[in-house]
Amino acid sequence: MTTDPSLVLRTYADAAHTAYETLTALDQLSGDGDFGDNLCEGLDRVTGALDTHPDEPPFAVAAAVFLDEVGGTSGPLIGLLFQELARAHAAAPGQDAWPTGIHEGLAAIQRVGEAEPGDRTMVDALVPARDALRSGAGTRETAQAALGGARSTAALRARRGRASYVGERAVGHPDPGALGVALLFWSRARADGQ
Ligand code: ADP
Ligand code: MG
Ligand code: MG
Repeated sequence: MTTDPSLVLRTYADAAHTAYETLTALDQLSGDGDFGDNLCEGLDRVTGALDTHPDEPPFAVAAAVFLDEVGGTSGPLIGLLFQELARAHAAAPGQDAWPTGIHEGLAAIQRVGEAEPGDRTMVDALVPARDALRSGAGTRETAQAALGGARSTAALRARRGRASYVGERAVGHPDPGALGVALLFWSRARADGQ
């Protein structure tokens, strides 16, 4: 069974708000400071849309919001992740959609954004999460893998996105997008009671 998608997304919205100051400060160091706003405003729109469209597939609702309405580089990329989670849920109802959804979502993000592991992006949180899911890890272990990947970006110099223009300034601090995406896995574990 897959964890209730609506509960995952609502938990994710709460987690993003809790982390807002940190995400904003990290994007101020390495980018233009709007990542916390992009993620929080996007997830608020998602929870609003879930309230008004309770019968729609939650990750499809989230994908539509992030692909069409959320700004920044991260908006459409996270939208692709939600889109593949929605597709995986639809393809195998009642089964755990995350191994396939995250595998395909990461592939879509890399097709569009062309980031490789080690470029200091959200890809660095997604690769360990994808690998954990592929090896059958539970929600808690997968979240730990994603958070570990996000934390590892603190040692990296950015080669993609705005952060690549600021050189060494952000080294020692994790990439905001990697941390923001790791919170999705943390929220799934939380929604799963872990
Ligand atoms: P912007 O730089 O347009 O303001 P955001 O602040 O919304 O974008 O998002 C920044 C995050 O996007 C980064 O922390 C990084 O994780 C992610 N990112 C940037 N470029 C790429 C890319 N090419 N592939 C994957 N993720 C990326
Ligand atoms: Mg930004
Ligand atoms: Mg921006």
